[in-house]
Amino acid sequence: MPSILFLADTTSDGQLSDTVAPLAATATRLGTASAVVVTRAPAHPEIVAELGRLGVADVRLIQSDAVGERLTTPQVAAVVSAAREVSADVVLVANSIAGREIAARTAIRLGGALVVDAVDVRVDAGPAVATTSAFGGAFAVESTVEGGPLVATVRRDGADDDPVPVEPTVVAGTVDVDGEAATVIDAMHEVVQTSSRPDLRGAARVVSGGRGLQSKDRFELVERMADALGAAVGASRAAVDAGFVPQSSQVGQTGVTISPDLYVALGISGAIQHKAGMQTAKTIVAINSDPDAPIFDIADFGIVGDLFTIVPQVIDEIAAVRA
Ligand code: FAD
Repeated sequence: MPSILFLADTTSDGQLSDTVAPLAATATRLGTASAVVVTRAPAHPEIVAELGRLGVADVRLIQSDAVGERLTTPQVAAVVSAAREVSADVVLVANSIAGREIAARTAIRLGGALVVDAVDVRVDAGPAVATTSAFGGAFAVESTVEGGPLVATVRRDGADDDPVPVEPTVVAGTVDVDGEAATVIDAMHEVVQTSSRPDLRGAARVVSGGRGLQSKDRFELVERMADALGAAVGASRAAVDAGFVPQSSQVGQTGVTISPDLYVALGISGAIQHKAGMQTAKTIVAINSDPDAPIFDIADFGIVGDLFTIVPQVIDEIAAVRA
């Protein structure tokens, strides 16, 4: 069985981050899964049990005084050391800004190769293969590694695998990164999200709006449809630039990349930079008044028409079905 190691991120209050379950699902699907948890204080007691519920056979609890004081170096040191200990064939990290830096440094230290924003990783008979989506999803690129392990950041999808629970073995240790060149963290300010909607990055359903919404007030229609579906709200860059929504909602090349089960595009033309962030959604629905809008090239279901007429009817219909 291939040895698959992944970095299990934690939140500021010591719980497992919501990036962990999808990474654990990928790791357990590929081989024997090991997780590295890097914390400053002793890890939260529930973490081992939770990783066991996710099917992770081997849990490495690594403490470092540098967590919260040095950017990424404690995580890199912990992952590199664990990867050597378990002879990892594949190292998986969440596809976040920090995750990409951790993965890159890890790949160099292990003499492996880096693939960022993988939409799939598989291990056949030979070396591991990572798939990335290129040119707005027009091409699927498969990369493999000669030599060291494959280190990949993995795009999160909304898929729910059914994990097979195990009783993990636990290895505890410390890492010391004193003397390493590192970016020092002076202060951390947590941004509290007050929205009751799901987080865009891991949502199973996303409703996004574009310039076609015309104004911040009218963008509220996107939020109403998202709430009817229990979905997260996304946006095109044009909608963000126009001030309809904050930049954190932007989907695409310079925003977030997502692979939800359902992606609804309202008044979005489907520029290649937008498609780059959502093309791997399992089902794409587009509503656009222009029958030639490129979004229809990748939509599974499309409605040509005025969204201000259509969307309220769709919301009513969803409410009727739910009732
Ligand atoms: P438009 O292209 O203007 O499309 C609006 C759509 O709304 C049209 O198709 C129109 O037919 C439709 N419409 C209008 N009124 C109605 C109505 N009443 N009912 C129904 N439909 C209606 N874009 C991103 O989204 N994400 C990115 O991350 C991103 N990164 C970029 C990076 C670079 C380097 C560059 C150069 C560009 C990037 N862009 C990105 C911008 C991208 O090229 C497009 O400009 C942008 O996606 C267009 O947004 P839009 O579809 O909302 O607007």
